[in-house]
Parts: sequence; structure tokens; C-alpha cells
Amino acid sequence: MSLPLLDPLANENAAAAIGRCRDSKSGPVLIAGGGIGGLAAALALARRGIPSHVLERRGAFSEDGAGIQIGPNGTRILRELGVAEALRPHVGEPEALSVRDGRSGIELARMPLGRWMAERHGAPYWVAHRRDLHEALAQAVRSEPLIAVSFDFDVSEVAYADGLVGVADATGVAWSGRALIGADGVWSKLRGMLFDPAKPQFSGKSAARSVIPIADLPADFQRNETTIWLFADAHVVHYPICGGRELAMVVVLGDQHQSSDWSAPVPPFWIQQNMPQCAAPLQALILAAPSWKRWALHTLPTPQEWTRGPIALLGDAAHPVLPFFAQGAVMALEDAMVVADRLAARPEDVASALLSYAGLRRPRVSAVARASQRNGSIYHLSGAAARARNFVLRHTPPQRLMARYDWLYGWTADQA
Ligand SMILES: Cc1cc2nc3c(=O)[nH]c(=O)nc-3n(C[C@H](O)[C@H](O)[C@H](O)COP(=O)(O)OP(=O)(O)OC[C@H]3O[C@@H](n4cnc5c(N)ncnc54)[C@H](O)[C@@H]3O)c2cc1C
Repeated sequence: MSLPLLDPLANENAAAAIGRCRDSKSGPVLIAGGGIGGLAAALALARRGIPSHVLERRGAFSEDGAGIQIGPNGTRILRELGVAEALRPHVGEPEALSVRDGRSGIELARMPLGRWMAERHGAPYWVAHRRDLHEALAQAVRSEPLIAVSFDFDVSEVAYADGLVGVADATGVAWSGRALIGADGVWSKLRGMLFDPAKPQFSGKSAARSVIPIADLPADFQRNETTIWLFADAHVVHYPICGGRELAMVVVLGDQHQSSDWSAPVPPFWIQQNMPQCAAPLQALILAAPSWKRWALHTLPTPQEWTRGPIALLGDAAHPVLPFFAQGAVMALEDAMVVADRLAARPEDVASALLSYAGLRRPRVSAVARASQRNGSIYHLSGAAARARNFVLRHTPPQRLMARYDWLYGWTADQA
């Protein structure tokens, strides 16, 4: 597939911004989107002495959502970005991953996390509230003089020429810089304008999320572990967050509801009506959730190109993944490290630095997207296939089950 046709100077306001700025070397890297990926990219660039300008559509940093799991490949990056210490008081570090049959409640496997994971990979497996992760990144961004932030800026126009990029919003406000990183999420406008007009497709499943005060729950749910309950065509995951004060829960179910809103309130009876019959403790946990937010899950094949001259995509904008491997945000963190490394290594040739970034990231994110799809299929098996899965889970040594993910959690930026 070829890239959509684009006259690089057709957008007047963005082109005018380029005209006003003639020094491509000292200009900032523009970053469209101040989510987890955009902020991490700004920090990774700053740590290499490169200034950036984050352009965020919303009026302030505010991150919706519930729980997020951050594997060692992500916590290692948070440490390198200088964010881990600020986040640490808010995280959980579960000791185990308990996999249960959702109907009977029987534990099928109990895999090691905690110290085992930290020693194996030199970095811990954390679980956190998404808001706390985003706030730790935002706090680091606020105290970094090399990063500027503009809110209420919805990138709507792009132009590029002579090693400079200009962007403008619909009101004509414009900025220019030496490169543009599109970190504008799964519904990326930049991807649509510059790389691939295809829209993400609804997967037929939604994730409903809730956060519950742990003190209100029975002792079974106060344990320091991540639990996953498996059903035919559904699963539930929960883990303690906010330093053990709250339990984050996500229920993934077949659904008809198609929406791009990732935080639409959903009445508790919707979960109860649509959940398969489940073990009594889980049923009680679901009933204890005070409110739910629903995110219709979408997929999109990774576009063939994610760079065009001095412009590149990052995070969900480049490669949205289904959340069955809990790695979408971590992939955005990995992207941030690699794009900053490449730009620092080739400051005089931004276009080839970005090409090299995309070439390095493509095999990795494709492997994670495939593994995520596969995980989802395995979680949601039914009948004889589910019984075979359960047999394997019961009879494989738990450490061997977890060691199968060494390729994922052992990643470091210098391997890229
Ligand atoms: C139920 C669920 C659970 C998940 N759990 C995990 C997990 O446990 N671990 C994990 O690693 N990942 C998880 N993920 C995935 C993770 O949430 C995403 O991969 C991650 O948020 C991607 O970050 P991003 O910065 O690329 O995009 P986003 O977080 O979507 O940020 C995009 C930003 O760009 C801004 N923006 C959009 N358009 C424009 C524009 N035109 N101009 C300016 N700004 C713009 C937006 O306002 C936003 O701030 C989960 C996802 C789901 C659905």
C-alpha cells in the first residue's frame, strides 16, 4: 500500500509556521499527544539533551482509566526516565499470577511474579492506576526545562519542507520543529492524514473497568496477587493498586456496543446480565463494584509505513494492540526510548533516524500484537480446547510457564 498523496506544503497555517522558523537543528521535536507515549518520548528526548514541545488536545493532563500492568520491560524504562521513584509509593508488586477457571473458581496455575520476576529481569512487575502512571510522567515533564507543553491544541494540519515540520490547529495557531512524533492514540488523526486512512475496527468485545476500595472486600481479594478468571468468550482480571488500597478489575466480554469513547459509564446490571455463570466469590466481587466504565476494543493492522520524512508515529497511533497481554502502554514506552536514541544518534539526518526507529520497532510490536491476539484466543477457549488448556496449565511447572515470556520482559533499549 502506498502512502496517501500529500503536498507537503498544502496546509497554509502549518507551512507558514515553517516559514517563520529557519533553524531546523535547534528547533524542538513536536509531539502530538500527551498520553503515556507522548510524555515518555518527551522525557526520553530530554534525557538525551533534545528539546521537545508536547501538543495536547485536552485542556490539562488528565488520564482516565483504571488499572495498568507494567511488566519489567516497562518498569526498567520508567527507572531510566527518572519516573520510577515518584510512582513507587502508588504501585503494587504482586507476588503471583493466579489463573482460575471462572465457572468453578478452581486455581489452574499459580505463576511467580514479585521477587522471582524482579531477580530474573532486573526490574519489577508493577501494577498501578493509570492515572498515577500518567501523573508521575507529567510531574517529570513539568520539572524538565527542555520540554514545553501546549494544551487545547488539536493537531489538524501538518506541513514539512527543508528539514522542518509545521503543525496547526483548526483556529490557525501553529508551531514548528525539527521533527513530529504522532503519539495521538488509537484514533490518530495524523495516521489517517499521513499514513493510512483506515479506521480501527470493532473487535466485538468490550472491556468494562472498575476500581473498588480493598477494605470493603473479603480477605480472598486482599491478597497481593494478580488473578485472572477464564470463561468461554470472556475473562476477568484484577489486582491491587494505589499501594494496596484499591482493587482494579477489568471484565472483557462479547459486546455489540461500538464507540470510540474509552470511558463510557455502563450500568452494573449490564455486566451481571452479560457475564457467564461464575464462581460465587467472583460473582460477589462483581456485585461489589460501585461503577463501571466501558471501552469498546478495536483493532487495526499496523500500517506498512509509520514514518514520512521528519514525521513518525508512536504508541497506539502506530500499532494499537488488544489488551490481552497488558503491553500497549509498555510498547509506547519502548517506542519512546528507541525513537529518542535514534534521533540522538543521527541529529543531522532526522528522516533516516526515524526510518531506523520504525525498522527496529516493527518486528517487536508485531510479535507483541500476535502474542496478544493468541492470548485472547487461549483465554476465551471453550469445550474440549478449554479442557486441554486447563490440563497444560495444571501440569506445567509454573516457573516454566512464566519463563516463556522472557523474550517479552527481558527487552532492553540497547538490544533494539
Ligand atoms: C482495558 C484495557 C486495559 C489495558 N491495560 C494495559 C496494561 O495493563 N498495560 C499496558 O501496557 N497497556 C494496557 N492497555 C493499553 C494502553 O492503555 C494503551 O496502549 C496506551 O494508553 C497507549 O498510549 P498512547 O500514548 O500511545 O495513546 P493514548 O494514551 O491514547 O494518548 C493519546 C493522547 O493524544 C491526545 N490526542 C489525540 N488526538 C490528538 C490531536 N489531534 N492533537 C493533540 N493531541 C491529541 C489524546 O488526548 C491523548 O492524551 C490497556 C488498554 C485497554 C483497552
